Amino acid sequence: MVIVGDDPASRVYVNNKKKACGELGIYSEEYALPAETTEAELLELVERLNHKNDINGILVQLPLPKHINEETIINAISPKKDVDAFHPVNVGKIMIGNYDFVPCTPAGVMELIHESGISVEGKECVVVGRSNIVGKPQAMMLLHENGTVTICHSRTKNLAEITKKADILVAAVGKANFITADMVKEGAVIIDVGMNRLPDKKLVGDVDFTACEKLAGAITPVPGGVGPMTIAMLMKNTVKAAILQNDEKGAYV
Ligand code: NDP
Repeated sequence: MVIVGDDPASRVYVNNKKKACGELGIYSEEYALPAETTEAELLELVERLNHKNDINGILVQLPLPKHINEETIINAISPKKDVDAFHPVNVGKIMIGNYDFVPCTPAGVMELIHESGISVEGKECVVVGRSNIVGKPQAMMLLHENGTVTICHSRTKNLAEITKKADILVAAVGKANFITADMVKEGAVIIDVGMNRLPDKKLVGDVDFTACEKLAGAITPVPGGVGPMTIAMLMKNTVKAAILQNDEKGAYV
């Protein structure tokens, strides 16, 4: 795990990931670098970790300070150790539907759906948000399971009309209580990816939980919903990375 700077949210995420590694018996190292670290210095560290034999997965916690180009750093991580599945090679594989590493947050959402005995096939699925780390891969994963998928974003017209048609609604907007009860169909499966801090420091999702809970067939809370699933999927990818790299080494023995 590599963290640059002292963003408090990033610190919490890294601590949680470190804790999960400890609980599972996964060896982990943390590189906490000062905010003034240069792009070249970070690239050098990534390159070193790419070649470090006892490290199977590299996670650079985002966001990075503004003077560092995130894309440059993500592209420098070996796709074999890219347990966040952000490298273009892994993103492309997700698009094709034949991938080694799951995109952590969307895969966590899918796991929640499966574990709840809900089938995606033929369902109207609406994803609000089109980021590279959540919205887009989420839409792909729902599509791979034969959902009929609509992606909404900030330029979408008549958003409520679209969300109201959703059998499965995934909110990944980053705005507290953005999805209100009038935007939701009765019986819908509502999955709240959002993590928003209110001024009183309370953590809330993108969905007005209290109002939507009354309508929903199933709904995830924040905290305690998608967040822990994201970490679980990260651990899954790390184990997969270790297995794949060990298999590869085995081939040379
Ligand atoms: P981004 O800010 O990258 O993307 C937000 C998306 O929401 C954009 O596509 C944006 O549209 C869309 N959007 C913004 N305003 C509106 C609007 N008024 N109507 C419709 N769409 C809108 O965020 P992320 O995808 O990275 O994260 C989304 C949320 O999920 C955040 O709260 C984040 O903290 C949380 N998150 C939670 C994780 C977890 O583990 N639970 C992991 C990752 C993120 P446009 O593209 O047009 O700008």
